[in-house]
Amino acid sequence: MIEALDIQVKGIVQGVGFRPFVYRLAKKYLINGWVLNAADGVFIHAEGEGKLLDEFVLELSDNPPAASRVEEVTLKEVPLENFDTFDIRFSDAGAVDKTTLVSPDLATCDDCAWELFNPNDRRYRYPFINCTNCGPRFTIIEKLPYDRKSTSMKDFPMCERCAAEYGDPLDRRFHAQPDACFVCGPHVSWCEHEDGDSEAPLGPVTWGRTREESDTILTRAVELLLAGKIVAVKGLGGFHLVCDAGNAEALALLRARKRRRGKAFAVMASDVAAVRRLCAVSEVEEGVLTSAQRPIVLLRKHDDAPFAPGLADELPELGVMLPYTPLQHLLLHDFSKELAARFPLRTRTRGGGKGDSAVGEVPLLVMTSGNLHDEPIVTDDAEASVKLFGVADGFLGHDRAIRARYDDSVVRVIRAGSTGEAVQFIRRARGYAPLPLSLPKWTPATDGGGAAVGPGADGTAVAPPFIFATGPEQKNTFALTRDGEAFVSQHIGDLENAETYDAWLAAKDRYEALFEICPTRVACDLHPEYLTTKWAHDQELPVVEVQHHFAHVVSAMAEHQLSGPVCGIAFDGTGYGADGALWGGEVLLANLSAFERFANLAYLPMPGGAAAVKHPLRMAYGALWAFDLLDHPGAHNMLAALGEQADICEQMIDRDLNTPLTSSAGRLFDAASALLGICVEPTYEGEPAILLEAAIGAFAEQDDYDSAAERYAIAVTKNTATAASTAQDTSVVLLDAAGTFRALLDDFAAGVPVSLVARRFHDAFVQAIVDISLLVRGVYDIETVVLTGGVFMNRYLVEHALAALEVAGFTVAVNRDLPPNDGCISFGQAVVAWAASKENAANAGV
Ligand SMILES: [Zn+2]
Ligand SMILES: [Zn+2]
Repeated sequence: MIEALDIQVKGIVQGVGFRPFVYRLAKKYLINGWVLNAADGVFIHAEGEGKLLDEFVLELSDNPPAASRVEEVTLKEVPLENFDTFDIRFSDAGAVDKTTLVSPDLATCDDCAWELFNPNDRRYRYPFINCTNCGPRFTIIEKLPYDRKSTSMKDFPMCERCAAEYGDPLDRRFHAQPDACFVCGPHVSWCEHEDGDSEAPLGPVTWGRTREESDTILTRAVELLLAGKIVAVKGLGGFHLVCDAGNAEALALLRARKRRRGKAFAVMASDVAAVRRLCAVSEVEEGVLTSAQRPIVLLRKHDDAPFAPGLADELPELGVMLPYTPLQHLLLHDFSKELAARFPLRTRTRGGGKGDSAVGEVPLLVMTSGNLHDEPIVTDDAEASVKLFGVADGFLGHDRAIRARYDDSVVRVIRAGSTGEAVQFIRRARGYAPLPLSLPKWTPATDGGGAAVGPGADGTAVAPPFIFATGPEQKNTFALTRDGEAFVSQHIGDLENAETYDAWLAAKDRYEALFEICPTRVACDLHPEYLTTKWAHDQELPVVEVQHHFAHVVSAMAEHQLSGPVCGIAFDGTGYGADGALWGGEVLLANLSAFERFANLAYLPMPGGAAAVKHPLRMAYGALWAFDLLDHPGAHNMLAALGEQADICEQMIDRDLNTPLTSSAGRLFDAASALLGICVEPTYEGEPAILLEAAIGAFAEQDDYDSAAERYAIAVTKNTATAASTAQDTSVVLLDAAGTFRALLDDFAAGVPVSLVARRFHDAFVQAIVDISLLVRGVYDIETVVLTGGVFMNRYLVEHALAALEVAGFTVAVNRDLPPNDGCISFGQAVVAWAASKENAANAGV
């Protein structure tokens, strides 16, 4: 029997080839009717044989295009209208919601990659090949709805053949907005310093308007790379600085020119097979590596894998990604081919400096952000030739403009207790942002509905607020809310830098325009000196100030749709506390709109304030001063290394000069790292803690080991409140790490191997996390523990804490859609402001 259904599909269904997919399905199952892009998703009217109709609907939700995200399919039986064809209908522009979700940028799909290397294809070796399943999206959009004339492709009128594909519902390029070819589309450009001298002026720009010209440029770029030079290559969201990752001299050159000393470089490999020869790759990791988002994945290096010195020395992990643009595919392919031709031996010796640096046979390119130091990555060709003038030897650009700056996203896969393997974000940007996160479905106590819009005190409808959350000062992202969702921006960076602050303002304006959000409320940090806090108070809008670690906890809660109360453990660098001290080792009892400070790591003096972050020996001095351990024999090395600075530290503490108090867990890891001589002069943020974790090494896998748990235990002691104390600024109990540091110094002085000491130190924190959670459960019956904050980017700590908490019967939530570091703060701020506003509505008499 012929039946008819109206079907509505919600989710990411625009710009991902959804309508052609529906069209092909309809043909397959002999369905008549139509499909249409509408205000809230895709609408389908389907008429067909009952059984075929069922299969059509099933495949619709089970097997949608790779880049789409079907969130909801609604079916309604309707009367037959007896269509005799299936059509793609074009709604008038007004009917299409301008804010329907558009997918983020998508890596080159397998079909396009195949065509790229197929000599018979008309786009053979065309560096901008794409289709509805892949290609740029948010990096080229100027305004919504997503349409070629609203993107930086508007300057490239399609040739007849491209236009024919674009208009054919059965073609893979039907309505592929960035569709193009050599004849009509963008082309690569090349320029290099005169006479091969990196300080000489740049020569003329050449263009790759034909395949031959384009290949000449690629050949030249590969030549430079093989010669150990550095090439700036334009990607999707900005430029990369690229060099041969197997060439130690090239790595040293890049470090010197980019002024980047210790921090590891991320690399690009041509495929998973190549990656497997260097790193362990689990099934989940392979899935992430090959996903359409193509982030950098931090993978564990094989012990015996040959890496050139200067790539990621001393670290157990290497950041690896696969090519995600056609240009990158071509570059990797040509580079690999030339490398094999020139160095046919299994083990090659290239460059090195330190005599023989044996380099593996796996072709790898360093792909690091094209920027200077802390500045935003360069997106514009002209800007690149100025800013990266002295850094790059050659410039491989193109004439398709980048409209929004996106860094590469960085993730790793962790063991997340009973959840199995889970993705942890380190940096959320290209491929993920600005996909919205749901605000928690939370019902204020006084109303049963939970709807975001309710009647106000006078009975009129109260619109939900549009909130702009500024985010923190470092690793900044911002967030905007609308209709129960929060759009969290891509990673912006550290706002102390004037250029980054300008980028923040520009990105904010872009988001507000794209998503048509005009904020009615601002959320910001509590820190009075943050640029974002000052900005927030200049806006003439209601401002909600949210304590840094409360925002951390709420972010992880909201990602899991938890409304609390939870035991929120935020172990972090530093954030401004309710008492003016620098918090960072916090145990907060939290719901979405309020918290109480239950426990914190006991305060330590931080001589020199921020300077103690750059000089962890100072932090070590502050810790040992507080723990009364300066006379311990295990402290001799530290004091000797500090030299005269030890006196300065002492005076600063004694006279309370520029010596804030901190409860930061991150600073304790810094201090331990410095005391053990692992890292005393960090070259990048977080290095002391990263190397302390790395020091555990293979010892992490050893089961029968003596944790010396009693000696290392972090003590739980009662805190003392004063008449002025509040539940927000003064905790009930303190976590005192004096014993832990005494044990560490005892072991260090006795010559116990550093790997053992490092593991015992980590396990002391794992145990403290369990102890304090048990205490909270004993008093308040709270079964859910949230682990968040930058310290939980420590793989050993988060994996072991998760497992130990589950053994103790807790439900554990960690950040899963956002990084545990400050990248999650803006979302937390937004949720708190949103929850607080609903409480206000409730208080107003709902
Ligand atoms: Zn494609
Ligand atoms: Zn064309």
